Amino acid sequence: MKHEFKLLIDGQSRDGVTTFDVVNPATGETFAQCPKADAAQLEEAVAAARRAFPAWAATPVEARAALVVALADALEARAAEFASLLTSEQGKPLDQAMYEIMGSVFTLRAFAAMRVEPKVLREEGGNSVVEHRTPLGVVGAITPWNFPVILLMNKLGPALVTGNCVVAKPAPTTPLTTLLFGELAKDILPAGVFNVLCDQNELGPLLTGHPDIAKIAFTGSTATGKKVMAAAADSVKRVTLELGGNDAAIVLDDVNPQAVARKVYQGAMANAGQICVAIKRAYVPSSMYDEFCDELARLANEAVVDDGSKQGATIGPVQNRMQFEKVVSLLDSARAEGTVLAGGAPLDRPGYFIPPTIVRDLGDDAALVREEQFGPVLPVLQYDDIEDVIARANDSDYGLGGTVWGRDVARATEVAKRIDTGTVWVNQHLAIDANIPFRGSKQSGIGGELGEAGLLEYTQAHIINAVPLED
Ligand code: NAD
Repeated sequence: MKHEFKLLIDGQSRDGVTTFDVVNPATGETFAQCPKADAAQLEEAVAAARRAFPAWAATPVEARAALVVALADALEARAAEFASLLTSEQGKPLDQAMYEIMGSVFTLRAFAAMRVEPKVLREEGGNSVVEHRTPLGVVGAITPWNFPVILLMNKLGPALVTGNCVVAKPAPTTPLTTLLFGELAKDILPAGVFNVLCDQNELGPLLTGHPDIAKIAFTGSTATGKKVMAAAADSVKRVTLELGGNDAAIVLDDVNPQAVARKVYQGAMANAGQICVAIKRAYVPSSMYDEFCDELARLANEAVVDDGSKQGATIGPVQNRMQFEKVVSLLDSARAEGTVLAGGAPLDRPGYFIPPTIVRDLGDDAALVREEQFGPVLPVLQYDDIEDVIARANDSDYGLGGTVWGRDVARATEVAKRIDTGTVWVNQHLAIDANIPFRGSKQSGIGGELGEAGLLEYTQAHIINAVPLED
């Protein structure tokens, strides 16, 4: 029997006002129905979260953290079911889906172990100044479709541990894993502490403008992030914006091109390139450009592009039709302006399949170089001068991540220091960890997630400044 997905409002499983289709991107066909909430249900969810907030905030942190651990345990116990559903709605191969689910379990446990202690700022002459941290209230958690589960946990973990209540809203094309998680949470968390609503892009503005929501934790595109920030201004909401990126990989001239090409390929093509910090442009010294490009092309031709539920698939479809069409149009212009060494056109089969594509000989102004492609297509550019390549890497409105590859780690690290992004990895990629802060510079975001800094984003500094009363 087909699973009937339900919203979660005030601790109750609820139907929406209607349902909408959820499409498996590997087939292009509808495989499930998602309940769709309306504005009145959003009001109910926000009101429930507000009602739940005082008791939840007053619950000792150890008890709150224990429930976050219980969520992690429940998710782990059903990891295979979650991974399979994630592959069906998102498209990524099953092993990558399992990796996301287990990463989510790890993230919840990591946040459950973190504490915010009061900080003594001054203790002298009878004057005591202490910074306490209080929860904000109701947090709206808005997530995108590339990593629907772990990006929710990055928000839910710190929000719950610090005593906030949450209204979550997943992306319309990947709502089901969030709804299934809501089913788990219903039996673990007090009513109203966590609510799940689904929409087809109508509820975001209502959440971001809602006067009873204290903070929006948003992950998605820069274009939508700007709207979130504008809507939040009216009530001076806290916002965390984790937005788009156009990460450069800079390959230095002392590496083994074949070995580094393998790592760059992986960094560009994992999750079919739909990672905020995927390698989205690679800069390679002229002296090894041909060899590097050829090795990337060889790897691309070896990839097994298939339905993520099929054993052996290494790269699945692009997640939705709109994104597929965007990547196809970037491919069209790249074919006209550069040299396509592998891939280059969508596969002639149902679903949204684009094979891994390597493009060389593009100019810096090509759309594929300047824009965030968010798909399995990598432009490879050449350089001769290190100052020049640093300037080209930094010539972007984005500033999310990036990588530098060099045998001389100290030299590579010096280059990394000059890349204007929130994170730069040296000789590795995607080393994201719940204990290490993650944030974008420039138009890649405001505030951040993960680490202690990510935990503090869910709190308000509350300074108590006391002196003895003099008669
Ligand atoms: P998107 O901006 O289209 O949608 C993200 C979410 O915002 C969805 O839930 C959507 O329904 C909702 N939304 C739509 N309109 C809204 C509005 N007016 N107000 C509030 N919410 C609204 O993004 P996407 O296409 O789902 O995701 C891909 C993008 O996300 C890429 O740019 C990627 O780089 C970025 N991303 C960033 C990070 C990061 O940590 N920085 C991580 C993953 C993805």
